Amino acid sequence: MIGATAGALIASCQQQLSDLDGAFYDGDSRLVHCGVNLDTSANTSIASVDSALDRARDRREVVELYAHHPDDTVPLDKIEHVLAGARDRNLAFFTYADFARSSAAAAGLALSFDDTSIDAWFAMRDLLQQYRARVTFFVSRYRNISADQRQRLKALAADGHDIEAHSVQHLRAPEYVEEHGLNAYVRDEVDPSIEILRNDGYEVHAFAYPFGARTGELDDAIAKRVPILRSVAFTYMLVESPCPR
Ligand SMILES: [Zn+2]
Repeated sequence: MIGATAGALIASCQQQLSDLDGAFYDGDSRLVHCGVNLDTSANTSIASVDSALDRARDRREVVELYAHHPDDTVPLDKIEHVLAGARDRNLAFFTYADFARSSAAAAGLALSFDDTSIDAWFAMRDLLQQYRARVTFFVSRYRNISADQRQRLKALAADGHDIEAHSVQHLRAPEYVEEHGLNAYVRDEVDPSIEILRNDGYEVHAFAYPFGARTGELDDAIAKRVPILRSVAFTYMLVESPCPR
């Protein structure tokens, strides 16, 4: 647990989200996109989120945000604040499939949810519909999810949401490559995570790196499979960001 002083120190070493260029897509056809974490643990304030939504509106860029488990790692009212903020600023919703289909940018929001919290995502369905939101779900460990959960994902996809790949075992890619080699990572963690979704009827356009951890060598290899990669941008100034810009 961090005390008030340490918490304030961490907050003071954080950038405003609106200053984090990597989290804004400007239509440059980039391969590697970077999202910013909305989870409570990432300490991203509502004011900082609002500054990012303002920048997206003012510069006609797409701001990329992600979280994990609604009502657990991120409060539902924070998600609703983001959705309402997008509506109030006339931001368009972008999925990662949209980035693959067209390089055009506009004042927009790309919101994604990572990992395996299928039931909590499904429970958020009405909220997303209320704001006519289209979001992306980056699913890891798909082979372990139940038949019921697969049906719930299908229902979310039918609502217009995007289902994309997020590896098999959610390991750190650069470390796996160091230990087993690049080909082994692609064979064990990338290809099966894409194939299992394609076998269930999803067109897969994007791969999100677990923890955002990536290298240029990994980007080149995975770009042969999907046209869009997602890493992360950190607001913490003292931590090296895996985002290439
Ligand atoms: Zn993840």
